[in-house]
Amino acid sequence: MDIDLPANGNPYAAPKPPVPEDVQEAIRTLLRWAGDDPEREGLVDTPKRVARAWREYCQGYAEDPSVHLSRTFEEVGGYDEVVLLKDIPFQSHCEHHMAPIIGKAAIAYMPRDRVVGISKLARVLHGYARRLQVQERLTAEVAQCIWDHLNPHGVAVVIEASHSCMTARGVRTPGVTMSTSRLLGCFLDDHRSRDEVMKLMGY
Ligand SMILES: [Zn+2]
Repeated sequence: MDIDLPANGNPYAAPKPPVPEDVQEAIRTLLRWAGDDPEREGLVDTPKRVARAWREYCQGYAEDPSVHLSRTFEEVGGYDEVVLLKDIPFQSHCEHHMAPIIGKAAIAYMPRDRVVGISKLARVLHGYARRLQVQERLTAEVAQCIWDHLNPHGVAVVIEASHSCMTARGVRTPGVTMSTSRLLGCFLDDHRSRDEVMKLMGY
């Protein structure tokens, strides 16, 4: 296996990971299947690029998203209202077509005795989004992770996303978005809490 040095010539940049020949060959097969010639000049390095891109799209497999919730703060100054992070952009890929899912998420929780740094909620989202997904499971996994690790009174996750497998192929309906939500604890059981969080999220 060869190791490519970074093209920008920066000697301190990490070398690109080698791509095994069978992985490159699989991508050449796909190029042939799509109707092109993998040997033509413009496509010669495409198998390596595609392989490395897929490692990056799916880097969530190499991490446990709950680690982002391990450092919590118990000094919350008596704060016991909703904590909300919204309009978090994310990208994922659908497991049925390996096509991009592009969307935004709103993540809220009602703390019981501890909070996390707000950026950690986005990190949990990305940890699950950088895998092959269906939107329903992504929504549920983010909510469950927060529920299990922060012991909050409630968790609410709402995701809106557009699926390239629907906008660029199949029924080809650009502009369509899909919404999914998962509510746990007080946001599920208490309609006043639910109404409040939905209003804060803008729904
Ligand atoms: Zn799909």
